[in-house]
Amino acid sequence: MTSHTRDTGLPMDGPEPARTGLVRSIARGFLGRCPHCGEGRIFGRFLKVRPECTVCGLELHHHRADDLPPYIVIFIVAHLVGYVILEMEMGYDVPLWFQLSFWPAATLALALGLLQPVKGAVVGLQYALGMHGFATLPGSRPAAGPEETRLGPAGLDGTGIGRA
Ligand SMILES: [Zn+2]
Repeated sequence: MTSHTRDTGLPMDGPEPARTGLVRSIARGFLGRCPHCGEGRIFGRFLKVRPECTVCGLELHHHRADDLPPYIVIFIVAHLVGYVILEMEMGYDVPLWFQLSFWPAATLALALGLLQPVKGAVVGLQYALGMHGFATLPGSRPAAGPEETRLGPAGLDGTGIGRA
């Protein structure tokens, strides 16, 4: 019995690189690592994503995290802090000065601490789903987009195809 019964018929220069799974991509992004290789760092500064991974070359500049990370951080921190404040207020005799000083500081610290990991996780999510420019992986053949079809070598090799 042979294992080479499924021939796609496509010309292959080499094996296509495999895309990392959803959960692992998100986890790697949460830890600030490249979702593709898990080695390179994706953040150059606090919330500034590097244009590409320095290890595997995955292009990161086309991520569209936008406002999703702050929304997620607000959702997490508000539920966490709000719940604990209510629990402490109901169950313990906590002085007002503590409530007014500790919780704003804790909220700020939690929000700042979660912003980068959550943004990394969102980038990992977009990579795993192949969104935006993440459809092309490093080492794979570039997908011929509409611009390439229109302005590619076929239109410039003197055949007159694609000329205006
Ligand atoms: Zn990488």
